[in-house]
Amino acid sequence: MLPIPIDLKEILKHYKTIAQHTHKGIQGHALLIAGSYGKIGAAVLASKAAIKSGCGLVTAFVPKCGYEIIQIAIPEVMVLTDMEEKYISKIAFEIQPQAIGIGPGIGQDEATQKAVHEFLENNKIPLIMDADALNILSQNKSWLSLLVSKTILTPHPKELERLIGKWTSEEEKFQKTIAFSKEYNLIVVMKGAPTHIIDGETIYQNTTGNAALATAGSGDVLTGIISSLLAQSYEPIQAAILGVYLHGLTADIALPETGYQSFIASDIISNIGKAFL
Ligand code: AMP
Ligand code: MG
Repeated sequence: MLPIPIDLKEILKHYKTIAQHTHKGIQGHALLIAGSYGKIGAAVLASKAAIKSGCGLVTAFVPKCGYEIIQIAIPEVMVLTDMEEKYISKIAFEIQPQAIGIGPGIGQDEATQKAVHEFLENNKIPLIMDADALNILSQNKSWLSLLVSKTILTPHPKELERLIGKWTSEEEKFQKTIAFSKEYNLIVVMKGAPTHIIDGETIYQNTTGNAALATAGSGDVLTGIISSLLAQSYEPIQAAILGVYLHGLTADIALPETGYQSFIASDIISNIGKAFL
């Protein structure tokens, strides 16, 4: 089947303006479960991207070592911490977010794997999984059946290979991803150049973005943007479509100023506003 282009025409079918009478309490609360010792930057990037993408509140759940870092780096974001200093060991929170993003920088410590399992067994909130959360799933494929319907997975090519196995042609890659999406009722964002989104038999192909996005933290920012949109009660497929389009557009907007070489993940975040406009 021919992919549906994710272009301005497609975006305008999904995009909702923000009501003038809204307030932060109804504008959506996103929870980002991210970071480990040496990778708290991933939590900073994801939660900053989330608060810059329109939701009213963002909480970051990080190991203890992330507490001051997040509070200082992004005063707009609230912080909850794990009991462990350097990695996540038990995911427990009393807040009620409308969306959860899990994975950037969490590592694959055995305790973190257990925490992810326990979390997935109990979670009913719209979810996006990225990075090491995907690698943990790849090592425990039986957990895939625990995921809430239409959970969004955002693998880069290596993460996708770990999830679905090797492919020998582009056609086979798509066939396997479609079968995987259907089996578990998931949305798969196949990150790349270009990014494709698979929702069962339906394939979308993004039209924005460029090679400047091939930089550390780029995927963590995408997780933050999509989490924020999910929290604003976009349907999962809408959040994925809008998220990849806006993420790519930031790089197209910034390119004349940064060039390919000096564009970094923080430049994605600083251009989210222009991309929305
Ligand atoms: P990650 O590998 O998790 O950091 O994610 C990288 C992000 O940048 C994904 O959204 C990719 O689609 C995007 N990206 C990486 N390289 C390119 C490229 N050459 N052209 C367009 N997008 C890219
Ligand atoms: Mg990544």
